[in-house]
Amino acid sequence: MTIHQNLIAGEWVGSDAVKNINPSNTNDVVGEYARASADDAKNAIAAAKAAFPAWSRSGILERHAILRKTADEIMARKDELGRLLSREEGKTLAEGIGETVRAGQIFDFFAGEALRLAGETIPSVRPNIGIEITREGVGVVGIITPWNFPIAIPAWKIAPALCYGNTVVFKPAELVPGCSWAIVDILHRAGLPKGVLNLVMGKGSVVGQAMLDSPDVQAITFTGSTGTGKRVAAASIEHNRKFQLEMGGKNPFVVLDDADLTVAVEAAANSAFFSTGQRCTASSRLIVTEGIHDRFVAAMTERLKGIVVDDALKAGTHIGPVVDESQLKQDTDYIEIGKQEGARLAFGGDLLKRDNPGFYLQPALFTEATNQMRISREEIFGPVASVIRVKDYDEALAVANDTSFGLSSGIATTSLKHATHFKRNAEAGMVMVNLPTAGVDFHVPFGGRKGSSYGPREQGKYASEFYTTVKTAYTLA
Ligand code: ADP
Repeated sequence: MTIHQNLIAGEWVGSDAVKNINPSNTNDVVGEYARASADDAKNAIAAAKAAFPAWSRSGILERHAILRKTADEIMARKDELGRLLSREEGKTLAEGIGETVRAGQIFDFFAGEALRLAGETIPSVRPNIGIEITREGVGVVGIITPWNFPIAIPAWKIAPALCYGNTVVFKPAELVPGCSWAIVDILHRAGLPKGVLNLVMGKGSVVGQAMLDSPDVQAITFTGSTGTGKRVAAASIEHNRKFQLEMGGKNPFVVLDDADLTVAVEAAANSAFFSTGQRCTASSRLIVTEGIHDRFVAAMTERLKGIVVDDALKAGTHIGPVVDESQLKQDTDYIEIGKQEGARLAFGGDLLKRDNPGFYLQPALFTEATNQMRISREEIFGPVASVIRVKDYDEALAVANDTSFGLSSGIATTSLKHATHFKRNAEAGMVMVNLPTAGVDFHVPFGGRKGSSYGPREQGKYASEFYTTVKTAYTLA
């Protein structure tokens, strides 16, 4: 098997490789991927630092062309890359292809943004002085990504970083190097000068830590767990660097008595269980008012009976496997915790056997849960959700906001009054009305509040806040 190597200073390097395993079939090796060392990370940072002066002053047409070419190749190869994604991460083929298309759209969007860079001119309060406000690239940007969106998250960090003139050291999650390698290969062949984008695949504690410890990394954008996010924050403050964190969620989905039951069940099932519940925007707290509670639980249980959990690549699969053994253990541990805490397991939660050996878990729905239970407070990151019964809208809103997280939130209602009030008062970065808590557009801001996020929003034109630094220049006329 050929080794997919790291890209450092424009050269493919590395011979110490690890196997990328398919969670739908642990006998299937997706590929071998080189494992970078801390020294590799240092070399990558040095290469990015050396490449920054020229790239930050490169023409906008050059940046546009490279990003555009990348978008075109990703789109042209969407079926192949989508299949690779599903094979290494375990989301269904339809979701894998959909995510790949989204990555293409993100590169397309930032190809356009490269042509729209602009500043402001403002008169000084002093006569005969003009002021220009411009944005410049920050420098070397460290990009650290998680495993749950193997192509979309790398795309939504790499595309704006390059668009605004930064150079990049990119460390993908160990479990899913395949899609990351593929987009770096595409960008490299699209004509990026050497050192502008460096790929260092490997352990967070080694390669990621080397990035955190380097004074030459001017900004770090991170998506992952709360624990690692805190390390990124502490190390970044030490080095006086910019940082942006997207971490966990415990997203509420409120169902009111006046909801359209079909809409509510479809949105709740999608929010809680699609993509195996492995989305930071997934909902794991279904907060349901008492007038609709029993009908909702009955309809949800029926809906879950129809969900097919199987090999991600198989036609007819609705939900693929859990990503790996340790995540599966975390999910089943929380199912036990929920039972011990006194919640009632109304559906699922069993390990499933399929044709191939994989990490198959039946979606689990708890009822009679309270918002104080650990299953309602801690992020599980699997196909496990709880129904919390509440009296009315006011209690639903209070419970929805009673969490240390604040990424996404949703409500199912036909009341304009309640929808409007919820949009205004939900303590979350994103609010969905009659829609799943997950599933966001690529051209608008993404991000949360409280313990979920730190720093400026990602995606859309709001991404420029993080990937640029503002300069104010005064000139005597
Ligand atoms: P998850 O539970 O989603 O895997 P992690 O926070 O462990 O969340 O991982 C997210 C990313 O952070 C991965 O790319 C991982 O390798 C990286 N990472 C883990 N530990 C560190 C660390 N000490 N320093 C920098 N990056 C790290």
